[in-house]
Amino acid sequence: MKKEALFYEKLDKQKTGCRLCPHNCTISDGKVGICGVRKNTAGTLHTLIYGEVSSMAMDPIEKKPLYHFYPGSSILSIGTVGCSFRCRFCQNCNISQNPEYPTQNHTPDEIVEYALSKGSIGVAYTYSEPLIWYEYVLDVCKAAKQAGLKNVFVTNGYINKDPLSDLLQFADAFNVDLKSFSEDFYRRIIGGKLKHVLETIEEISRHPAVMLELTTLVIPGYNDSDEEMEEITGFIASLSGDIPYHLSAYYPMHHFTAPSTPVKTLERLKEITIKKLKYVYLGNVGADSNTYCHSCGSPLIERRGYSTEIQNMENGKCCKCGAGIPVIG
Ligand code: SF4
Ligand code: SF4
Repeated sequence: MKKEALFYEKLDKQKTGCRLCPHNCTISDGKVGICGVRKNTAGTLHTLIYGEVSSMAMDPIEKKPLYHFYPGSSILSIGTVGCSFRCRFCQNCNISQNPEYPTQNHTPDEIVEYALSKGSIGVAYTYSEPLIWYEYVLDVCKAAKQAGLKNVFVTNGYINKDPLSDLLQFADAFNVDLKSFSEDFYRRIIGGKLKHVLETIEEISRHPAVMLELTTLVIPGYNDSDEEMEEITGFIASLSGDIPYHLSAYYPMHHFTAPSTPVKTLERLKEITIKKLKYVYLGNVGADSNTYCHSCGSPLIERRGYSTEIQNMENGKCCKCGAGIPVIG
């Protein structure tokens, strides 16, 4: 469904300037922006995907991945088509790079009613890139909050400051992809700028009531050097050593055919990160994904696949030594 966009300017000669994400596309009449889902029609910018849901499922919260937000819960997860990036290794390219992929329209109230009927803790905006679905996501967020549900974002973090600020009023948790610490990688492989992603992460980290977790998809030969992991770790630690960090294995997809990430690579990188970060998890490889107390080492959350059991933890504290644990829910 088409709806007038938020965050844009009308320019000369019926052009529009979209201000939703740092691409800040200037869009001529009849054309779409880089994301493929925001179109200028006679000088008015529209989102083409209001309510257009390409994927919907009840998922374990751990699948997002979020390990420190309502562990063991299930969340209604929805996604759409299009993306502000062009990751050459995209694991969801069938929807992210194909605005023509079939969708079904659902009103925000329908999404909330469905979430409630399924006993979901909230709504997760995920699968491709939710921030380019902004107008709809904001409306679902408002309806979800009114119904007492949580709002969770799994995102590439490419958004301008003002729209992010509005979204943060309704957000409960984010998992942001930090795909690399190299501007060159972001420019050549992804089609964006690292500095804007870092700004988004910094801004979210200033909101203590919002759970922030970060994920890096580790691609051999591209972002798996010790030096780069030292830089990423230093950046995250400068915000907080409590931020949970996921190192996920890549598998060949889209334009990338190189072999998948060896477990040993992830383990080597984890050795670097745990010098400064308290909670580091390996994803997509079946490794130990339990949460341990950073102070006394007691197991706190045991995970087997997507089955989760909380042990030795009450009211955000380790029952054995009393250390505070950054877990919401
Ligand atoms: S949201 Fe889409 S149209 Fe708007 S600036 Fe970003 S890529 Fe361009
Ligand atoms: S940001 Fe995510 S959805 Fe978008 S192209 Fe990259 S991997 Fe795919």
